[in-house]
Amino acid sequence: MQVHGKSDSAAAVEAADVPSEASSRLDVAMSTRLLNSLKILAYSGHVSARLPGGVTFLIQPQEKSRAEVSPDDLLVCDLDGKVVSGPSGVKPPSEVFLHCEIYRARTDVNSIAHFHHDVTNVFTLVEDVPLLPFKNHAIRWKSGIPVHADPAHVDDAERGRGIVATLGPHHAMQIRAHGQIVTAETVRGVFIDSVHLVENAEAAYRAAAIGQVKPLTEAEIESFSHGFRRGHHIRKLWNYYARGAIRDGIFPETWNAAT
Ligand SMILES: [Zn+2]
Repeated sequence: MQVHGKSDSAAAVEAADVPSEASSRLDVAMSTRLLNSLKILAYSGHVSARLPGGVTFLIQPQEKSRAEVSPDDLLVCDLDGKVVSGPSGVKPPSEVFLHCEIYRARTDVNSIAHFHHDVTNVFTLVEDVPLLPFKNHAIRWKSGIPVHADPAHVDDAERGRGIVATLGPHHAMQIRAHGQIVTAETVRGVFIDSVHLVENAEAAYRAAAIGQVKPLTEAEIESFSHGFRRGHHIRKLWNYYARGAIRDGIFPETWNAAT
C-alpha cells in the first residue's frame, strides 16, 4: 500500500539527496547509543536511516546490545525486510517491517526510531488523557500523535502497512500498550524529536498528577512556531548531547568528528 500513491522509484528520486552510507552509519550508531543512555531506547527498539537510492536502509542487528552498536554492525535491508548486506548470519529486528512500510509510503521520511518508553505509553492506557503537545517543542506534533489499536509486534508486512495507515501524514505515533514510532528527515532529527516526545509525555504525566492538564492552544503553537529554526535547533541539541556522550565515554569522539 502507498499512502501517497507513490512507488519505490518515486522514493528513490526524492531520497536522492540523503547523506552517504558512511555518514549515516555513524549517525545511527551514535543515536542508538545516545537514546539508550537516555533510557528512551532500552533492550529493544531501533533507529534506521534511508540510504542513497531510497529503497534500502540501515538498521541494527536484532541481538546486538543497544549500548554497543557500532557503525560496522549495521545491516542494509531492502523494503521487503530482506538483508542486502551485513555480517553473515545476523538478523534485523523482528519489527523491521514498520521501517520498510513507512519508507515505502512516506518519501519525506529518511529516518525512523521505534522504542518502548513506559511513561509515554501510559497515555495509550487511559480513556480520556490523550498525548497532545504540552511543551513548546512538541509543536512538531501539532497535527497529532495517533494511537494504533493493535499492540502486536510489527513483525510482517501487513502489520507494517497497518502502522502506515495509522501514522498517516504525522511525525510520530504510539502503538497501544507497546511503544512509539518517530519519523524525521534526518537521523539527528529523529534523535532530537525522540528526546522531545518523551519530555513532552513526562511533563504531561506530571501535570496530570497535580491538576487538569492544559495542552498548548493553537495560538500558543503558532506563537512558538514563529521564528523557530528546526535546523539550528537540531544542530544545537546534537552538539550538546554528543559532546556529553563523548565525555561520558558512550562513543568515541572520532565518530562525531567524522560526520
Ligand atoms: Zn516494538
